[in-house]
Amino acid sequence: MKKFLQKYSEFMRGRYGVDDLFYFLMISTLILGLFPNFLLKNGLGLIRWLLFGFGIFRYLSKNFTARSKENAWFMKVFRPVKKEIKFLYTRIRNIKTYRYRRCPKCHQQLRLPVRKGKHTVVCPSCRHEFEVNIRF
Ligand SMILES: [Zn+2]
Repeated sequence: MKKFLQKYSEFMRGRYGVDDLFYFLMISTLILGLFPNFLLKNGLGLIRWLLFGFGIFRYLSKNFTARSKENAWFMKVFRPVKKEIKFLYTRIRNIKTYRYRRCPKCHQQLRLPVRKGKHTVVCPSCRHEFEVNIRF
């Protein structure tokens, strides 16, 4: 086992390895693998293998500059998506205690305590007053 790890370590020396794009590609491959019938029906099975192959190619690549550029581009696109996913998770976690609404004037996200019915809300950043209806 130790010899295998040493050989693997020597093999990986100077290679790019893992980054956020690698994780994204591998997780996408796994998720697509959960729906094999859907992929085969729509002829998309190849896409899964292309994602997997690209991930492995990047993992083993020795061209750090190109791989870093790809990852930087990916993070530029993915960072806002990741932020929205985190916010969605927070909303779900706090569903019993808070509701989230945007101020119509400055678009600031407001966290409001759950009180059913219509209320007047004052935005803390722009002082704009607006009506909010919390139904459930
Ligand atoms: Zn506002």
